[in-house]
Amino acid sequence: MATVSLEKLVKRYGALEVVHGIDLEVADREFIALVGPSGCGKSTTLRMIAGLEPISDGNLKIGGRVVNDLPPRARNLAMVFQSYALYPHMTVRENMGFSLKIAGMKPEEIGPRVEEAARTLDLTALLDRRPSQLSGGQRQRVAMGRAIVRDPDVFLFDEPLSNLDAKLRTQMRTEIKKLHAKVQSTVIYVTHDQVEAMTLADRIVIMRDGYIEQVGTPEDVFHRPNSRFVAGFIGSPP
Ligand code: ADP
Ligand code: MG
Repeated sequence: MATVSLEKLVKRYGALEVVHGIDLEVADREFIALVGPSGCGKSTTLRMIAGLEPISDGNLKIGGRVVNDLPPRARNLAMVFQSYALYPHMTVRENMGFSLKIAGMKPEEIGPRVEEAARTLDLTALLDRRPSQLSGGQRQRVAMGRAIVRDPDVFLFDEPLSNLDAKLRTQMRTEIKKLHAKVQSTVIYVTHDQVEAMTLADRIVIMRDGYIEQVGTPEDVFHRPNSRFVAGFIGSPP
């Protein structure tokens, strides 16, 4: 059960507090979009969940277990970034299998896993190419492939589509939706694109200055914003 619970989660950089004790309950297999203006603390929050950034205060639970002090590898989650930095000298197959290889998995186990992920993402024909021989959308799919081969309970996305053009973004939105339906994992998806959030998420979390302003379904936040800020943010185009 991959529930994710943030309990009074705080992040400080030295004397500067940037996340001020936020609470959030993410249900197993729920798709949560985390939105808000630049600098409001979305990436910091995601990085604390991922284990890439120490938690200053409060508790983070995954599947009911406090994981504050567990390294990323022990949290059974996978993160997809905006700049997906594939290894240029490796093929798609090698890129996708790399994290399994360094985790010590045997090649005969890695092969089928990579091939299954490639089928899910429609990458089978591209497995022997290198990143330089791929389009932006294909590279982004490989980045997702790298994450799903690990069969994580929780997927964390940080603005994964913001480097793509508008048409590709729309296309990839559909891919991500299909992927979520297929792999049945919990997703926390950071974006500054309101349309992306509204179309993908079960619930939307709106952050502002290190606080959570409102949590609700797309309908809730659109029709019943609890502040001018939320109304302005959800109502205005990206
Ligand atoms: P968002 O992803 O919503 O744009 P961030 O989580 O990246 O925002 O940043 C939240 C705040 O924390 C910002 O004010 C940012 O300047 C600050 N911040 C982020 N990383 C660091 C750091 N390593 N040291 C100091 N301040 C940081
Ligand atoms: Mg960010």
